[in-house]
Formats: sequence, C-alpha cells, structure tokens
Amino acid sequence: SPERPAQLPELTALPQAHLDWRRDDTDLEAPHSTAFDDVYFSRHDGRAETKHVFIEANDLPRRFADWQASRPFVIGETGFGTGLNMLCAWSCFDRHAPPSARLHLVSTEMFPLTQEDLVRALAIWPDLIARAQRLIEQWPEPITGVHRLWLDERVTLDLHFGDSAERLAHLDGRVDAWFLDGFAPAKNPDMWQPALFEAMARISRPGTTFATFTCAGTVKRGLKAAGFTWRKVSGYGRKREMLAGEITTPLEDDTRRSTPWFIPPAPRPTRHVAVIGAGLAGTSVAAALARRGIRVTLLDRQGPGVGASGNRQGTLYVKLAVQPNLHSRLYLAGLLHSRRWLATLDPERRLWQDCGVLQLAMSDKEATRQARFLGHHRLPKRVVEGVDAKGASQRAGIALDHGGLDYPQAGWVRPAVLCERLATTPGIHLRQAEVVALEAKQTGWSLQLKEGETLSADQVVIATAELANRFVQTAALPLQPIRGQVSTLPMPPGIPKLQRVICAGGYVPPVLDGELTFGATFTPHDTATEMREADHADNLEELERTLPGFVQALRQAGAELDPAKLGGRAAVRAASPDKTPYAGPVPDAKRWQADYASLAKDAKRIPPTPGTHHPGLWISAAHGSRGLASAPLCAELIASRICDEPLPLERELADHLHPGRRIISELIRGN
Ligand code: SAM
Repeated sequence: SPERPAQLPELTALPQAHLDWRRDDTDLEAPHSTAFDDVYFSRHDGRAETKHVFIEANDLPRRFADWQASRPFVIGETGFGTGLNMLCAWSCFDRHAPPSARLHLVSTEMFPLTQEDLVRALAIWPDLIARAQRLIEQWPEPITGVHRLWLDERVTLDLHFGDSAERLAHLDGRVDAWFLDGFAPAKNPDMWQPALFEAMARISRPGTTFATFTCAGTVKRGLKAAGFTWRKVSGYGRKREMLAGEITTPLEDDTRRSTPWFIPPAPRPTRHVAVIGAGLAGTSVAAALARRGIRVTLLDRQGPGVGASGNRQGTLYVKLAVQPNLHSRLYLAGLLHSRRWLATLDPERRLWQDCGVLQLAMSDKEATRQARFLGHHRLPKRVVEGVDAKGASQRAGIALDHGGLDYPQAGWVRPAVLCERLATTPGIHLRQAEVVALEAKQTGWSLQLKEGETLSADQVVIATAELANRFVQTAALPLQPIRGQVSTLPMPPGIPKLQRVICAGGYVPPVLDGELTFGATFTPHDTATEMREADHADNLEELERTLPGFVQALRQAGAELDPAKLGGRAAVRAASPDKTPYAGPVPDAKRWQADYASLAKDAKRIPPTPGTHHPGLWISAAHGSRGLASAPLCAELIASRICDEPLPLERELADHLHPGRRIISELIRGN
C-alpha cells in the first residue's frame, strides 16, 4: 500500500564536519577532516586535480559543448565536501555549453560543513568567489533530505544530505556523469560499498560515465559487479593512476515493483504548457516551467492571487506530527524549500519576512505533544526549538503566558503580491479566461474556454483548488472545500510591536502597513466568500484567547474590536481526505481500478502494470491552508517531472503526493 511505513531513514540533524587546517607539502593550509584524517583538496593544486580527475575524465568540455537536449545535463557526485568539484563543473559548463543548455548537479553529503567552514574553504579560490557566494547564501541546515539550490538561471544544485548509497537509492532521476569522490576507500570504507555502486547503476542512463581519483580494488570490483566498465587512466600529480569508465546497460529499477502504479509517465516533448489557475499553486508551477524555457499560458477566470492565495498576509509555517511520518517530512521539506526559494526570488524581503513563527502550547495537552515532538525529532535549533513563556515573550516582543515551539526560519508572506509577481515571469502569458473542459488530442490537449474559443497546449497543469476536480479527467480525486475568513484591524499607535508570527488556534503575523491581520476561520463544506460578522467574532475571540495582554493593550489604545467594524477577506481553500496535496500526473482512474482490481482481494497481488495516466495532464491542488509551505515544492516536483530532471524530494515523498494514491488505498480497503 502507498501508506506502508516510510523506508526513509529518520529525519534528523546530521553531524557536521570537523575540520582543521593543515599545511600540505607546499606549506599551504588546506581543509582536513579530523574524523577521516584525509584532505578535502590540496590547496596547491586542488583545482587542477578536480579538472583532471572529474571534469576531463568525464569528457565534460566536449559533452557540454554538444549538449542540445531540452532536459539538463545531470552530474551526480558522492561527497559534496566544500563544493569545489561542483563549482568547477559549473564554471566549465558556462565556458563550453550553448546558451540553451541547462545543468543539474546532484551531490550527497553525510557530514555537511558548517557555513563558516564553507566560507573559509572556498575563499581560497578567488575566481570562484561569485559562484561560491551563491552556494554559501543558500547553504542548507544539516538535516537529512533533499535541499534544492538555485545557482543561476540555468544551473540547479540538489544537495542530498545523508549517506551516499542510501540517498541515491531514494533519488528519482537519472545521472549523465558521476564524480565518484569521498575520502579514500582505505579511510572511508563504509561509503565504498556494493550498495553504492548498485544505486549509481540504477539511476544511470545508457552511456553514463564516471571518474574517480582512486584505483582501489574494492572500487574496481564494485563498479564491475554493478555493470560499469572501467579503465585505468593516468592520475593527477603523484597519483599514477585513477579510474574512468561508463555503463552501457543500467541496472533495472526494481524499487517500483511494489508500487508499479507510481511509475511516472515517460517524458514527452514540450514547448507549451497551459496552467489553469493563477493562485500560488498555479503561478509557482508556471514560474518553474518558464524558468526552464517552456512557454506557459497561465489561465485564470479572474486573475493572479484572487482565490485563497489572495490574502494580504499569510503564514509560512507547518505543524509537524509527534512521530515523524511522510506527511511531516514533506511539510518540513516544503518549509525549508519555500524559505530558500523566497530568499532567491526576493532577497530584499519585500514579499515576505522570515521573522520566525511561535506555536504556542496553550493547553497541557499541547505542551505534552510538543515535548514529545522535541523528544522524537533531533532537529537543529535553527529549524525548531522549544521555548518557555519567558523565551517566547522575548522572541515575540510582547508578553506571552505560554511557551511553545519556535520556528526561527518560518514567517509570513504577501501571497497576493507574490502570485502577481510570479505571473510576470518572462515566458508566461497571463490570460483571463475560464477553462470549462479538456480534451486529449493526439499530441497534446485542447482546452475549451467558456467564451467558446479553444486553446491548444502540449501539456496542462490544473491548479484550481476546490474546482480542480471539475474536469472529467480529475473527477475521481476527492476535494473538500474549506471556507476561511481573516480579519484585519488598523493598529492604534503605542502598541508593542509583534516580532514573530504567533500561532495557536489561528495565526497573528506582525503588523503590515499599519494593519493587524488575524484568523483564519475554518469551515469545511462551505464555499461562500462573503464576509460574516460571526466569523470576525470568532477570530476576535481566538485572538483574545491567544494574546490576552495584547488585546487588552489594543483596547486601552482605543482599537475598535467590534466584529461589525473589522475588515477582512473570506476565501475557499481545498483539502484532500488525507490532508496531503495532490501533486503529480493525473491517473486514469478507470484504468487504475481495472488494472489493480486484484488488490481488493489480496493487497499482496500486485500486477506489474505501470500506472496509466492522462498523458501530459498534471495537478497541483489540495494545499489547504499550508500552501505557502507546499505549493512551491510541488511546483518544482511537477516542472522537474515534465522536464525529465531529478526530483527535488525523495521518491517516497513524491509517491506520497501522487494524485492516484487514494485509488490504491481504496482498492486495498475493498471500497
Ligand atoms: N567533492 C568534494 C569537494 O569538491 O570539495 C571533496 C569531497 S571530500 C574528499 C569527501 C566528502 O565525502 C566529505 O565531505 C565527507 O564528509 C563525505 N562523505 C564521507 N562519507 C560519506 C558518505 N558515506 N556519504 C556521503 N558523504 C560522505
């Protein structure tokens, strides 16, 4: 079942690298690992060694120059270390590749450097400073998982933090050239295991090459057993020999045997994609595709950021389960991803603020839940930290009666302005139109517009929240509409400034443009969007319950805390039955029900048939009230699939988001 326990290792903080700086034989200081007693690179000739061993032995200058494919060239590396190899590959790509080419870098790392060490290690190479800066400013927290970084318009880096073999086994994507790095096999035997070579062989393409500095027997045997052919070539400097080679027949990917329905549709040539819905889900998909050089028509019956994404201020936060599960992993990955994405999109923070979010423990039950959560998760304090009432008050800038969980990197966003901004990404054509039906054509889709006109596109992404299952093709995906109303209040002068977003039953972000926003109500099965006094009253009550001292100060300052006088906005959000978004290809539900009917009798009788999807039809919906954390990552997931790139999250998490998951679980339950 897709709900089988995650085989992903625990979500946890990784130990960071311990470095000292040793003088090498040329008397230059170089970063050295105390744990492995080996160097990251030689300062004397580290650049030249990288060029010889990894870049040239993989024939990259020529392959970059010849790269004409619409998908990116993918380099995979074991052991990111200081990033020197990847920065050199990027620089080589810029020198040799045609303007239309793109580069995708994937690298594993089990002991990430601290940001300070990274800065020091990379300061050694003056001509790489600008590139190093892009890496340093996006350097992720040391948490297991995939961290996507945008190095420039054409170059993406996915850091897979964790053990190389384990990470590559969860990677969904294919590699064109391998940099087989990592400390010397004699010093780091745990990494150079058959499982690593097998994982590499499984996600290689026919003809994928590799290069490595070592000539150790275990490496030669491991590579050969996994299907790589190798040859000895002259090594760099005093190292006489090294290995280079390729694989003709990659290993079969048997990881999908237990879940053949999730086998992704084969990539198809795509120049033009229609995205329906210009909320956060739609505009973020549109921008992700446009960045990849795809022409996008973004259609909305009203305009960008009008539905549930149309609020002035929204909270970027997550609520994680006590026991780590796929849902929580996904949201934590989404939160960290959104933050990096926003920082790249808007470094000046005009559209958002990472002021931090405090989740107050207002009851004993919630305090116990939070304590258990902290006991289960060993996450860095920069990601989440338990604080008492005093610590919470200091961080919030106002007196609070309760402690809670503090997420220093979370914050708030202007969703409406963000959607407008994304919709102006070059390559996107925004059109006000309602799509009423979709028809599959031989090579693409025909979209029927309400006004009678039709529009054609190679592929289509549906991102229309609670309306996303109104098409014949998506009708089997259950969606629950949830009405939400926020309230706003002009702030009188003299009120202490709220420094963090405060969450309890609702949320209260810091004041924006002289107005306090608070809410939101949560009314399932209600699609009305008029403002209601009763909802304002509920929001006020919740505000007073969460921040009694603050509300008292507001009253004393003369604020009109009257439900009849508050401003605000109501909109409809959508949720799936399991509260996880739908992000991925749209399954052909009838075919799934027929193809996997045997599961109803015996969940172990898994037919080998790959899932049939409506070709070129995608969905990003059911983001509920956490779209700021989920939609940008789902957008990257869909764009990566459409463009045949490695995914920005583990295959298990991509499966967890798959729109067809419920068809399978229903069959298994016998419904
Ligand atoms: N490629 C790096 C560069 O360009 O700076 C140098 C790599 S350094 C020689 C080896 C790296 O492998 C270290 O950063 C180390 O932490 C990492 N490493 C060691 N064992 C690992 C494992 N099992 N999985 C992932 N990374 C590992």
